[in-house]
Amino acid sequence: MMRITGYKSHGVAAAVALVNAVTTRDGDDSEDALRAVLRDNGFFWHHFEPRDAEPFRRWGRTLRPFFEATELEQAVALLNELMMEVPMHPHLADHDPHGLHIHYAPPSARLPHRFRATTLMNLSELVVEHGLSRTGVCAAPGCDRVYADTSRAGRRRFCSENCANRTNVAAFRARRRAPRDTSPRQSGPAAPGTEPD
Ligand SMILES: [Zn+2]
Ligand SMILES: [Zn+2]
Repeated sequence: MMRITGYKSHGVAAAVALVNAVTTRDGDDSEDALRAVLRDNGFFWHHFEPRDAEPFRRWGRTLRPFFEATELEQAVALLNELMMEVPMHPHLADHDPHGLHIHYAPPSARLPHRFRATTLMNLSELVVEHGLSRTGVCAAPGCDRVYADTSRAGRRRFCSENCANRTNVAAFRARRRAPRDTSPRQSGPAAPGTEPD
């Protein structure tokens, strides 16, 4: 899985994990899987209650169009619309594993609300910095998972190493089969579309 550069972007990775859990063919949107999304991304997963499952699933479906957006305008409009709907009340918090950081929802907000606020703000920050160049749907044929790239290089096009490798191997084989291709080229699979960082 991708490594995230810092606490500021934990909401980005959490959004990706949630969208993949609830909107993909092979996704697992069970309560345990939702708890894992929270735990893996530094949210208070032990605050999760069974009644929160549906709001989380809904939020995952709500965020998917952001990752599918091909026009910046479209993505900005969606984030703006959602930010109008999620009441924010920023304040500083200091807890593991992030240390001092900003909470965007009101202090009294329950977990789903806090999750919505943080994912929205972190995705917005990513867009401000990089436009849509860091997010998308996996480029591997047949894969419907989304990704976000917060590495310095920012060249990720796949949801996972696995998808990057099988796509590059397939492209390499296709090139070798091409009869007219006599030009000398470097041997070995094409440069990976995603770099481990
Ligand atoms: Zn926090
Ligand atoms: Zn993939």
